Amino acid sequence: METLAILVAAGRGERLGAARPKAFLEVAGQALLLRAARAFDAAALVDGIVAVVPEDEVENARVLLGPIGKLRGVVPGGARRQDSVLEGLKAAPDAWDGTVLVHDAARPFVPPELVDAVVVAAREHGAALPVLPVVDTIKRVQGGRAVATVDRAELAAAQTPQGFRFSLLVRAYEQAFRDRVSLTDESMAVERLGRDVAIVPGSPDNRKITTQGDLAWAEAAARREPPWR
Ligand code: C5P
Repeated sequence: METLAILVAAGRGERLGAARPKAFLEVAGQALLLRAARAFDAAALVDGIVAVVPEDEVENARVLLGPIGKLRGVVPGGARRQDSVLEGLKAAPDAWDGTVLVHDAARPFVPPELVDAVVVAAREHGAALPVLPVVDTIKRVQGGRAVATVDRAELAAAQTPQGFRFSLLVRAYEQAFRDRVSLTDESMAVERLGRDVAIVPGSPDNRKITTQGDLAWAEAAARREPPWR
């Protein structure tokens, strides 16, 4: 196995206010987690998939992901996203050092071509992530007032999947946990080691579902039926 994808789906999705954890919500009849897993199943350069889900959803997820041929396991997650990623990393085979991808199951419309582009860049550079340009003017805010304008040419919005040589991500995670840092993505852990991370163009389809408005967008996106579904 050269490339293992970890799909983190153990969040409760509190900002959505739904009864089920977010990744188990259905869009046009299909759970977000299943949609995300299908994209990775369709990606040519992905060999294995591990799903990280809430402890009480492990059995449900095994049934849900039955059609995913590359599925290698379903494991329970942790309290924070980074704890869930750690549980996924533990599911990798012993003494393995291939390319690991970490993806938010809350991004169900990731194109398989984007997944493969991240794998290629991660194999070449050791670390890679997809980004989109920032289109809004970004303000620095202090005490409820705008005090400065940040040069957006220097900014990019990070997406997932983020890809790494496995040993590099493990080292970065160990350091971040030792330093008690809150991570918002994997790239952040690697940047802290002084390593830079290659970027590939992200996709507007690869939107993260966070709010009810995002769910409404997802219903419309599902009706556009991308070819790999
Ligand atoms: O909450 P947010 O949308 O930023 O979560 C991003 C992804 O991380 C989601 O797919 C969510 O299920 C996952 N997550 C997790 N474990 C947590 C918190 C979030 O797997 N404890």
